[in-house]
Amino acid sequence: MNFDLNLLVRKNIALLEPYSSARDEFSGAAKVFLDANENSLGSPLTKWYNRYPDPHQVAIKQKLSAIKGIVSEHIFLGNGSDECIDLLFRSFCEPGRDNVVICPPTYGMYEVSANINDVELRRVPLLDDFQLDLVHLENKIDAHTKIIWLCSPNNPTGNSLNRVDMETVLNNFNGIVVIDEAYINFARQKSFVQELADYPNLVVMQTFSKAWGLAGLRLGMAFASNSIIQILNRVKPPYNINQATQELALKALDELGMVNDMIKILVDMRDALIPVFESMPSVEKVYPSDANFILVKIKEARKVYKFLLTKGIVIRDRSKVKLCEDCLRITIGTEQDNTQLIDAMQEWCQMNA
Ligand SMILES: *Cc1c(COP(=O)(O)O)cnc(C)c1O
Repeated sequence: MNFDLNLLVRKNIALLEPYSSARDEFSGAAKVFLDANENSLGSPLTKWYNRYPDPHQVAIKQKLSAIKGIVSEHIFLGNGSDECIDLLFRSFCEPGRDNVVICPPTYGMYEVSANINDVELRRVPLLDDFQLDLVHLENKIDAHTKIIWLCSPNNPTGNSLNRVDMETVLNNFNGIVVIDEAYINFARQKSFVQELADYPNLVVMQTFSKAWGLAGLRLGMAFASNSIIQILNRVKPPYNINQATQELALKALDELGMVNDMIKILVDMRDALIPVFESMPSVEKVYPSDANFILVKIKEARKVYKFLLTKGIVIRDRSKVKLCEDCLRITIGTEQDNTQLIDAMQEWCQMNA
């Protein structure tokens, strides 16, 4: 492999003089802070919110570092994974010239972000078993391919990609390989975060939105070499993680035990729900899941979706998505949610017997 980050980063980003915030220029202890044009009198909320937040999120990264076994220098925090996705496009992809590869069916934001950034999107569909098509992938990349987006476990299919396939991509592609691990906590497979030393082209994304139960805070993580992290830090808005999110995330990080308990409960409910769906007459297939949702192939998927809506239950209709024809994506809910769902589904099956 011939990986050279200097050849990948956009020229304007390499040359960029990043914004230097008041908190960058002075971050020590002082008694009087008159450097950032904040309101020194306070705020309608607590006093703390009149001050700009830590632009480097040092405290969160310290705690994450201990939990993940990764030094802070390899951690980037974004306003949701969605910000990490956008920053990767803006850092590495020259609009109108470069391209990226996605493997659909997959998470929709890679495509939206490509379009926003005017970056050509090349599709290499997954095979029928929702695994990577390595031959097709090799044929699609060229000198202008900057990023390959892999999602494992994948949304909406729910499966993990074969680890050896992902390693093949990492070993043979000279651009950036992003592995989006939003659902890794629900998976049987282990994360790629411990492999950063072996792959200078690897970016692993995770999020507080799923297992951590904090979708409302908007906090996403990217793990990569320090050189890649430094590039993202240059491009990000200085105060991209707000004070409230930083405080609440710090609290949450002390509750790893509770999060692990929730993960176990969700995984157990998922594994219990799969055979229940498999036994329903309308259901043609329930795909194996390494995530907190299941993908179900069912007769008259759109009608089932609408029927569930009349019962006040909303799921995701993926029946028009290529390779997911007739499929519904269903998030694992609470015990009560799941019971209501099963009851409604059984009613549907009886009506349509
Ligand atoms: C839900 C999800 C995310 C999370 O995005 P956030 O912006 O962190 O909420 C990222 N990637 C995939 C594939 C997802 O399904």
